[in-house]
Amino acid sequence: MKFQSSEALYKIIFNTINDGILLTDLETQKFYISNKTICKMLGYSPKELKNLGVADIHPKKDLPYVMNMFKKQARREIGGTKSLPVKRKDGSIFYADINTSIITLDRKNYLIGIFRDVTDREQMEKDLENASIAAQNVFEDLSTEKSKVEMARAKEEAILMSIGDGLIATDEKGNIMLINKTAEKLLGKKKEEIIGKNFFEDIIIKNEKGAPIPLEKRPMSMALATGTTTTTTTGTAYYYKQKDKTMFPVAITVTPIILDGKAIGTIEIFRDITREKEIDKVKTEFVSLASHQLRTPLSTVSWYTEMLLAGDAGKLNKGQKKYLDEVYHGNQRMVELVNSLLDVSRIELGTFLIDPKPTNVVKIAQSVINEQKLQIEQKKITFSPTFETNIPPIQADPKLLHIVMQNILSNAVKYTPEKGKIGLSLVLDNKKKAVLLKISDTGYGIPKDQQDKIFNKLFRANNVREKDAEGTGLGLYIVKAIMDQSGGSIWFSSKINKGTTFYVTLPLTGMKKKEGIKMLE
Ligand code: ADP
Repeated sequence: MKFQSSEALYKIIFNTINDGILLTDLETQKFYISNKTICKMLGYSPKELKNLGVADIHPKKDLPYVMNMFKKQARREIGGTKSLPVKRKDGSIFYADINTSIITLDRKNYLIGIFRDVTDREQMEKDLENASIAAQNVFEDLSTEKSKVEMARAKEEAILMSIGDGLIATDEKGNIMLINKTAEKLLGKKKEEIIGKNFFEDIIIKNEKGAPIPLEKRPMSMALATGTTTTTTTGTAYYYKQKDKTMFPVAITVTPIILDGKAIGTIEIFRDITREKEIDKVKTEFVSLASHQLRTPLSTVSWYTEMLLAGDAGKLNKGQKKYLDEVYHGNQRMVELVNSLLDVSRIELGTFLIDPKPTNVVKIAQSVINEQKLQIEQKKITFSPTFETNIPPIQADPKLLHIVMQNILSNAVKYTPEKGKIGLSLVLDNKKKAVLLKISDTGYGIPKDQQDKIFNKLFRANNVREKDAEGTGLGLYIVKAIMDQSGGSIWFSSKINKGTTFYVTLPLTGMKKKEGIKMLE
């Protein structure tokens, strides 16, 4: 095909190319020539476009900037095409890459703009840009969050790492995730050699005698099993091993980390209590020594008052007897207190012995009842003991058994008002394979908020302190120690102003023997 003129050719090209072409009068910024594509792009006819200018197709606020840019571009002061928003006749906006140049026609300067609709690309890029801005924001947020968390973590870590107590964090299986400097030092293990290892396997806990504490009795197992914080006290003997194999006593607190009601790990804090133990021992030894020294003069007072009361130094008149009775009674209380203190010191020093031999439990109960008979009668208490006949002799330390029963029964008598009721029963508990002693009363009861302290040394509940000034708060502590160390158990239930029931079980296998140098008094 042959074109009549090159002008015609240009016209065809001008109108068929896919890019929009607009000529703008540089002075008036009015459009001068348009091609078909730009008419299609903008939605105007060529005629309509002739009455319009740059200001009509570019969002107004951008105009000076756009024009300036076009001119610069045209003068090649800036390179490349520029993607800009363009307004259609219907007001909608599309994006176009616009490339401009200056042309002089009829001695006038015009700006030629070549428009390429890049809406799709632009949109895509915009989307991408938005997405990337969003992503960047998220990342920035995350990284600021992260750095915040990291900062907080770094701070927390620094604090935890340098606290004076040993700290070990584990997962729910006991695998060690974190250990601080103090723990490293106390255990003589380096972080590198212990992280990832299992706490239960790699860290041995022993008792005073060097026997390993069973897995289920370890504070961490208990914290994981119960989901509650488990704390050992100075009294309980837990020992960790140093690198040089020496053992040192520790006080341990294990807190489970709970997520959605499940323990997902633990934090153990432990402290070397060697010094506390030493101080404790010195105190106990002092009490032991002092009570020993007190016993001799007390015995002297006891003997001589007994002799006086028996009339060995002549007949006493009524008044003399009354006063001497008071002296004797007061002295007896003092003897009991000193004996209790001695017992406590022997328990704490671990020097008391348990010497089991075949023992008739019922007989011991009867002798304890006999000792209390007078007080029971004086208080007009209805007392009903019952003994099952099938109770076999048990390997038990009769003296300790006596102490246990005497303490519980005398408490029942002491803490039950006149005309109350006390029951004592001894039965064979086949299920538990034990003899069960049950002593119940209709007395003052133990306030609920103080029940967990009842076996503590020197503890007396406030409801009885007002009523009875004579107690020491040592009896149940001694009883509990005897039961714990001989393999039996003791517990109670109580309701304030309704009464209390104490339960003691003695395994049919008998009391565990314990070597020692002193009997309890
Ligand atoms: P105490 O010398 O005070 O009797 P115990 O160690 O024997 O010391 O008992 C400790 C505390 O337990 C008592 O002070 C009392 O508060 C409470 N308690 C023990 N037995 C009973 C009981 N049967 N009824 C009410 N409270 C009791």
